[in-house]
Amino acid sequence: MDLVSEIYSRLRTVLPERDAPIQLHEPYFTGNEWKYVEDCITSGWVSSAGTYVSRFEEMLADITGAGRAVAVMNGTAALYMCLKLAGIAEGSEVLLPTLSFVATANAVSYQRAVPHFVDSDEKTLGIDPVKLKKYLEDIVEERSGGCINRLTGRPISALLPMHTFGHPADMDLLLEICKTYGLVMVEDAAQSLGSLYRGKHMGHFGTLGALSFNGNKIVTTGGGGAILTDDGDLGALAKHLTTTAKLPHPWSFSHDMLGYNHRMPNINAALGCAQLERLDEYVDRKRTLAKKYQEAFDGLEGVTLFTEQSFVRSNYWLNALILADEHAAKRDEILESTTQNGIVTRPVWDLLHTLPMYRDCPRMDLSTAESLARRVINIPSSVFLS
Ligand SMILES: *Cc1c(COP(=O)(O)O)cnc(C)c1O
Repeated sequence: MDLVSEIYSRLRTVLPERDAPIQLHEPYFTGNEWKYVEDCITSGWVSSAGTYVSRFEEMLADITGAGRAVAVMNGTAALYMCLKLAGIAEGSEVLLPTLSFVATANAVSYQRAVPHFVDSDEKTLGIDPVKLKKYLEDIVEERSGGCINRLTGRPISALLPMHTFGHPADMDLLLEICKTYGLVMVEDAAQSLGSLYRGKHMGHFGTLGALSFNGNKIVTTGGGGAILTDDGDLGALAKHLTTTAKLPHPWSFSHDMLGYNHRMPNINAALGCAQLERLDEYVDRKRTLAKKYQEAFDGLEGVTLFTEQSFVRSNYWLNALILADEHAAKRDEILESTTQNGIVTRPVWDLLHTLPMYRDCPRMDLSTAESLARRVINIPSSVFLS
């Protein structure tokens, strides 16, 4: 059999036959979703007040171990607010992986900072800390009060790792880099709810971190996100900033700073509470599915299922086949053929430094990300598939 049909038939050994195409992600509502949403509707508490938002936030803090979780309207807003709360200066550079979803860089731009693209590591799919360290040794000029990129003259203010497809980046080494150069760490943990690095949940390794509950994520609120932090003051400020900076008072209606209406509506939080109750089961199911894929592709020359490092527990949010270099030319044919036969597959996002709005941003050598972008094929990963 040729490689294209071989991949299709191995996918079929894991995936069910059905009329509708099998999507990359389909939400899974088999718990208390109806009950809680119905409760919002019958009680009338669907919007900016009600008890599900704080319940959802408490559940998130409990699950992640973060000191505080603040629910917001989507993951992009969560990340933007994280950068604002972290005090990322206008015109400063933020180091982030070019191999990411566009929201990672957009949030930096909203804060009027400059994305500075860094390369990824084939072992984690996250930022390559060893390569980044060498690069910074070359380009950074240390001054009192921070470090300057000597190529652009701009300060470098922060490091923004993203945990690709749910797989944790190499946090120990990344934190070390932040310490060496006095960088703030903000995590884009949008894909990694339920993932652990050395036993600790993603999203609060640095100053702040963002989660997403978009429809394709492991837990969905329809649309939603959350800010995580262990800093009590920042947590309180996060809540204030994202709820129009309204001063608490029984009847007076006043605001003490430029706030944002980025809160999560109660009806979305209700859906989220029901989903979070089942998170452990979702993670188990995702991991089981990954194992099935791994077995299905075992022994196929030049095609591997990406698997986690020994020191992490990944949520396997989105499974990825990685083609060997010699098969990269077949990628599009594989994507075309599987999708036409009812199994939706997709290449990874176009690398951020290639997008028109980010073409002129500073960047290091990005050869690993460029190679991965030619070879990654994402395959259906819904919870229900296991
Ligand atoms: C989903 C996602 C976001 C943004 O989340 P939304 O809720 O869709 O705004 C940000 N970064 C990454 C890496 C994501 O996957």
